Parts: sequence; C-alpha cells; structure tokens
Amino acid sequence: MNQKTHTPKVTLVGAGPGDPELLTLKAVKAIQHASVLLVDDLVHPEVLQHASASARIIHVGKRGGCRSTPQAFIEKLMAQEALAGENVVRLKGGDPLIFGRAGEEQTHLQAQGIDVAVINGITAGLAAAHDLGIALTHRAHAHGVIMVTGHASPERSATALPAVDWAQLAHTAHTCRLTLVIYMGVQTASHLQAGLLQGLPGDTPVAVVENASLPTQRHVCTQLNALDKVFEQEQLGSPAIILVGDVLLGLQNLSADNAPASAWGQ
Ligand code: SAH
Repeated sequence: MNQKTHTPKVTLVGAGPGDPELLTLKAVKAIQHASVLLVDDLVHPEVLQHASASARIIHVGKRGGCRSTPQAFIEKLMAQEALAGENVVRLKGGDPLIFGRAGEEQTHLQAQGIDVAVINGITAGLAAAHDLGIALTHRAHAHGVIMVTGHASPERSATALPAVDWAQLAHTAHTCRLTLVIYMGVQTASHLQAGLLQGLPGDTPVAVVENASLPTQRHVCTQLNALDKVFEQEQLGSPAIILVGDVLLGLQNLSADNAPASAWGQ
C-alpha cells in the first residue's frame, strides 16, 4: 500500500554518479519511503532495489540528443502525484543541484504549494577526479574549480544565458589557476577545444572520464591540442566528464597513445 503524505511534498534525490554504493543514507531512506519514483536514465538500476515493492516507478530519461520525456511533462506529473497525496521522489543522476534542473523544478512545485526537499548526491565531476586519483584543488596547481556545461542550449529565449565564452573562460582558468570540470561536453568537444586553446596552452593536461564510478569506466589522458583526435581515436561517448588543468600533470606520462585506458587508474 502506498504511504500517503499530508502536506504535498516532492523530494529531489541525488543518486550519485553511477555506483549504487555511493548513495547517501538519506537518499536510501527517501527511496524506501517513496510511493512514486520518477527516475532519470543515468540512475543505476540497483538503486531501485531500495524502493518498496508497492512503489510506482516511472522512468523519465532526459539525455541530451535522445528521445526523452519533456521537462514540462515531468514537472506536471510530479505535481499531480504530490497533490494526489503520493510521497514523490525524483531520482536524479549525481547531485540534483549540479546541472540537474532542481532549481526549475523547485520553482514550479513551490508555486503550487508543494514542499520541496533536496538530498545531495555525489556529482559526476567528483567521481571522475576520484577515478583518476587526482585532487581537483591540489594546492600546488589550482586555487579552485569551475564546473561548466559544454552543452549548447538550443533554447533561445529572452531569459536564456548567452553561450559560454570558452576563450574567456580559458583565460580566467589560466590566470587564476582554476581546474575546469566540463559536463555534457562530448558532442561539443572540438568546439570547446578551439575556444579553450585561445586562452590555455596547447600542452595543458586534459582527461576524459567516461562512466565514472562504474565498472564500465574508461579514461584517457591527453593534452588540450589533441582532445578532438583522442575523442575520435578512443570513440569516447556519453556520459563523460572532461577535466582540464595542471592538477592532471602527474598523469601526463600516460597519454592516449601509450596507455590503454582500461589498464590505468584502477
Ligand atoms: N546532476 C548530474 C549532472 C547531470 S548533467 C551530476 O551532478 O553529476 C549530465 C552530465 O553529467 C553528462 O553529460 C556527463 O557529462 C555527466 N555525467 C553524469 N554521470 C556521469 C558518469 N558516470 N561519468 C561521467 N560523466 C557523467
């Protein structure tokens, strides 16, 4: 039997980067108590083993470039279920607050008098750094980190932000010593490479980590001026994180040419 709630409520839960063991205890508890779960497609299926047998599980994948449930529909469905008294959990990959559209969903739900809670998850950029065995903020090399999307938004509205100025960003990263953690950059890798080369040296270390935290994880270490070639040679695909900066320097000897991706960094 579904557990009904009194105040309409939706919990946005971060399911982490993939490895089901990286769920937080809070996430597990929220999943156990949910009567309806709306699940993104980057969420590992094993995460759903925590759900109650009576819970309704709805898959609402939203991968860029793939057929997926429109965002407006997902928001409507969440509201509808919460207002009907269901205990709704929205399971998202990584952290809901990092490129997870949690802000939009929060605004939409709160406008209808629905309480929104957020439970953090481990974001993919951190899992990628972990898999490489590097510190994103190693103090010999970086003062901080910039998490940025490589996805060029097709939305052209008055409120849409202008596209990322990669040349400017590279200049800032170079002068301020910041590590770049690029999400959703697979499709646009050569475009962002060209922009970044206007502000960062061609031999800046770059790593691409595909399927971070999962047994299928692959990673390649290269230099900024070879990024497009490496993507082609290694047939790197989504989901992947691109890391850029001197914190990767120790990995330089293991380039895409001399190290099979699978034999390194485990
Ligand atoms: N909220 C998520 C990010 C969603 S955007 C988070 O905090 O991680 C989707 C992008 O995240 C993908 O295009 C990819 O760049 C990255 N991503 C998600 N899971 C990943 C994984 N296991 N390995 C590498 N990149 C991943």
